[in-house]
Amino acid sequence: MRRIITINSNQVNKSVETKKVLTEKLINAGFEVTYNFCKDAELIISIGGDGSFLKTVHDFNFPQIPIMGINTGHLGFFPEISPNHIDRFIELYKNNSFLVQDISLLKANIYTNNCKSNMYAINEVVVKGDKSRTIHLSLNVNGKHIQNFSGDGMIISTPTGSTAYNYAAGGSIVDPGLNLMQLTPLYPINTNAYRCFTSSIIFSSDSIIEIIPEYRFEDSILIVIDGVEYRFNQMSDIKISISDLKIKLLRMFDYEFWSRVSEKFL
Ligand code: NAP
Ligand code: MN
Repeated sequence: MRRIITINSNQVNKSVETKKVLTEKLINAGFEVTYNFCKDAELIISIGGDGSFLKTVHDFNFPQIPIMGINTGHLGFFPEISPNHIDRFIELYKNNSFLVQDISLLKANIYTNNCKSNMYAINEVVVKGDKSRTIHLSLNVNGKHIQNFSGDGMIISTPTGSTAYNYAAGGSIVDPGLNLMQLTPLYPINTNAYRCFTSSIIFSSDSIIEIIPEYRFEDSILIVIDGVEYRFNQMSDIKISISDLKIKLLRMFDYEFWSRVSEKFL
């Protein structure tokens, strides 16, 4: 039986070097290696940091094949191993000493005058102004109006993305066993002129978050999905919910979320 592994790497020297070494070792261990998406692959390995991991998942269009990262980046919260553990990884992988973790994604439906787009996020969807003025957003949840937000914008993050931008903006780190969406405001204004929540809000997994921009001073809104900017002309609203689509992360048997948090953050 053919056993195919796809490797996707960023262009950093260390990643390119790691890709060469990994390819050689996988071939010696009896695997076939491809560098382009291959539907028959049993595993995708992304070499780089978190940014590369996110890019691999988006470029490969949220594949249903398990994905694992090798960290040659800065932080590397997603990647499971470092380049010096390749031998051990191959040994454990061949012995099936790993787990596959399902990761929930956010679905964003974006409506403009004449079209509707569908996008998926692993970490978060950010809604913010395109320029540096205050933006005003009406927030509805399950069809009910909650607040008129004024400030820089909002982050809607998954539990996976809770350690990323969400955390830097004062949001909470979420245990991956919980299925929820966290809305964290970016510089909310709280004065006699404007009133809105100043802390994060946690929504249950079946909620539909709807954000409707009020175009007062400017007419363009920026949507940032996993760090990539999208501009929409006169976006009328965006609806965010937890998608049925998931991705699969390969975790080595000793993976533990809270140890990873203390190792990477403290
Ligand atoms: P980046 O600007 O290089 O990323 C910022 C940092 O976030 C990097 O150190 C990255 O790790 C880390 N990161 C990404 N996903 C993470 C996660 N789930 N948990 C913990 N840390 C995580 O851009 P990027 O590498 O393309 O990553 C995109 C992400 O950056 C976005 O999804 C957003 O969450 C985050 N971001 C954060 C801020 C902020 O904290 N103020 C601002 C904009 C965007 P690596 O070093 O391994 O790449
Ligand atoms: Mn990065």
